Amino acid sequence: MTDNIQKIAEIIGEKRIKRNESLATHSIAKVAVTAELYLEIDTIDELVKIVRAAQELKVPIYMLGGGARIASTKDINGLVIKNNCHRFDKAGMKGSIRQNQMGMQEVLVYAEAGVNLNQLVRYTIAEGLSGLEYQLGLPGTVGGAIYTNAKYIPKYLMVNKALQSVRILHENGEIQTYNGQLPHFVYTDEEWEETKDIILSAAFKLVPADKEVLREHGEEAMTWRREETQRREDKS
Ligand SMILES: Cc1cc2nc3c(=O)[nH]c(=O)nc-3n(C[C@H](O)[C@H](O)[C@H](O)COP(=O)(O)OP(=O)(O)OC[C@H]3O[C@@H](n4cnc5c(N)ncnc54)[C@H](O)[C@@H]3O)c2cc1C
Repeated sequence: MTDNIQKIAEIIGEKRIKRNESLATHSIAKVAVTAELYLEIDTIDELVKIVRAAQELKVPIYMLGGGARIASTKDINGLVIKNNCHRFDKAGMKGSIRQNQMGMQEVLVYAEAGVNLNQLVRYTIAEGLSGLEYQLGLPGTVGGAIYTNAKYIPKYLMVNKALQSVRILHENGEIQTYNGQLPHFVYTDEEWEETKDIILSAAFKLVPADKEVLREHGEEAMTWRREETQRREDKS
């Protein structure tokens, strides 16, 4: 163990940190890789504080969302942070008043990166908001979905298409909010660009729609994902 690994463990506190922790029980994909240091964080303030301390000490950080798509098959050196920041809410709306009637055109939904994506999608459907309904059944978190450019393949509908803005903690410790086009993330094809930037939160731009139609679209996507998973399991 290097001095800096020991230092970051001391900053976090021995009671909270786990050493040589298997990610099998912390990841949807149940990957049996081991994290040198493992920590769960549920507030953005603490996440920023710990990441900056690790950056200063040059301790490598691996952000873990739901662990549905962990690429690594090797044990992970440094600090694995399981993102449990899970707050979400409506952040604002845009509309116009005509003949004393409020017409809603757009609703912003804010979500921290550790929010379970399925929970968020169910919420938006229940609220009658369109933009994420085809992501029903997509395992993982908001941060993981943005990072991996997750999509509903039959219609090529990306989670990122619904983004209004994303708040990122850069490798240099700076926090920036990006509207529209994001840096480093390539949203054109299957793969994504590796980056050490950390997604803190996002705002999704959604539009009012019929709840029944949204439910039908969500069910359609869930059925496809279930069948697709089965197809893959049958192949392997
Ligand atoms: C049964 C099954 C079905 C699936 N169906 C689909 C599908 O239909 N479409 C699709 O596109 N994918 C699908 N996937 C893949 C996976 O669900 C998505 O890629 C998902 O968005 C990953 O989210 P996660 O939170 O689990 O990410 P993780 O697996 O935890 O992480 C994936 C990557 O994102 C990075 N990351 C996570 N959070 C952050 C953050 N806050 N900041 C910076 N980096 C971060 C990690 O470091 C890692 O490199 C499926 C997977 C499974 C197991």
